[in-house]
Amino acid sequence: MTNTQQDTIIAAATPPGSSAIALIRLSGSDALRFVDQCFYSHRHKKVLKQKQSHTLSFGYLMHGQEMIDEVVVGIFKAPHSYTGEDIVEISCHGSPYIQEQIIHLFMEQGARLAGPGEFTLRAFLNHKMDLTKAEAVADLIASNSKASHRMAITQLRGGFGKDLKELRQQLIDFAALIELELDFSEEDVEFADRQRFVSLINHIQQQIKPMMDSFKLGNAIKNGVPVAIAGKPNAGKSTLLNALLNEERAIVSPIAGTTRDTIEELLNIDGVAYRFIDTAGLRATTDTIEQLGVERSYEKIKKAELLLYVIDINTFHHKDEAYAELEEIRSFEIPYIIVANKADTCKGAWPKLMNEIPEVIAVAAKNREGIDELKQQIGNQFMKQHHLPEGEIISNARHYHGLRHANMALDEVLNGIGNNLPTEMIAFDVRTASQHLAEITGDISNNDILDSIFTRFCIGK
Ligand code: GDP
Repeated sequence: MTNTQQDTIIAAATPPGSSAIALIRLSGSDALRFVDQCFYSHRHKKVLKQKQSHTLSFGYLMHGQEMIDEVVVGIFKAPHSYTGEDIVEISCHGSPYIQEQIIHLFMEQGARLAGPGEFTLRAFLNHKMDLTKAEAVADLIASNSKASHRMAITQLRGGFGKDLKELRQQLIDFAALIELELDFSEEDVEFADRQRFVSLINHIQQQIKPMMDSFKLGNAIKNGVPVAIAGKPNAGKSTLLNALLNEERAIVSPIAGTTRDTIEELLNIDGVAYRFIDTAGLRATTDTIEQLGVERSYEKIKKAELLLYVIDINTFHHKDEAYAELEEIRSFEIPYIIVANKADTCKGAWPKLMNEIPEVIAVAAKNREGIDELKQQIGNQFMKQHHLPEGEIISNARHYHGLRHANMALDEVLNGIGNNLPTEMIAFDVRTASQHLAEITGDISNNDILDSIFTRFCIGK
């Protein structure tokens, strides 16, 4: 993505389709001039160019002699705007036709349709925000739960990017001394005290490691904590999923083996989004398609953070059968809750065996009985495993891999110092670590990185 910042860009910032009001945004050095050419303030006061920044004007837009709409125009003058350039935001009536006409009007004057994320790209290129903040904007727009929202807001406030910049600066200061040694390589001098350097690297790694460790949780929160629903065919997995979601999503059928593929649905519990994955029933089968489904189920279960294992409650009347299932559950080696379904068929007298198993909860999915208790238990289980830290949680794979590579390079630096390797080699690893940190914040970036980040944005942001 090249920096074509000379031109003025335009896009609707609101979703396509009809709405009460839509917002069209222009950014660039001609934004005010373009709008001034066709905007008429009701009071015929100053043209926008002469008005103060951060003000609203009410008036109408004209295309020649034809009035397009009554609008409210907000102006944000450079450099005090989102992009750092002059921005004009036009609130018009939300008819797709009107929006099209307005965009067309300004394109006729020379504005160009913005690409995805191009406003935010400009904000980054104009140093209004670092890359981690720009990415937080996309995360904020996509946030769908209290936890993912909090994560994005914390990142947007810039703690993470700022911390990394500080760490990198410390590394650079020290690297300068190492580079100096290279200039004097003939003379065998040591400007950089190796012991202090080791302490510095240890300090940086201590900061980086918790960030890396938080990625698993952060990624789960961002995409929904994966919870697999598994169990034998006909145990009531699909019925349970429907009960959890309170809707008819999965196909419920009395014929064993109907859920052949996996179904995934998001549900918010206590501010955390969970991604429920209904898996094909686990059983030995000769049907090849069903077998594929079973294999996929095993894979999905292994990747989940929590397993909801559904058993027909009546299985607990048969000790051998129940323990065989327990063995299967434990073999996945992930946290689990055993959901003893069809409790309605027991008429209140649950099998005695159930008292021996602490992780079991009785429900009647079909009648939605015990579902709220189950949800509560899912939330508790998650909180028990993961204390949501107050600080920054890494949720972005790009950041995670950047940190991981920086950490690996720092390991190499320590290794080099420990083994008295030549200064050139140490200096190389220091530079590599510094470069990885810089790529995260965008202090070093290239078109490929920017492309892959900003093309995922919506148009108009
Ligand atoms: P799956 O194969 O595990 O997904 O099972 P389904 O959800 O398709 O359910 C299998 C059968 O069990 C269906 O006939 C459901 O109506 C029935 N079923 C599910 N939950 C309950 C329940 O709580 N009580 C009773 N009595 N039947 C249930």
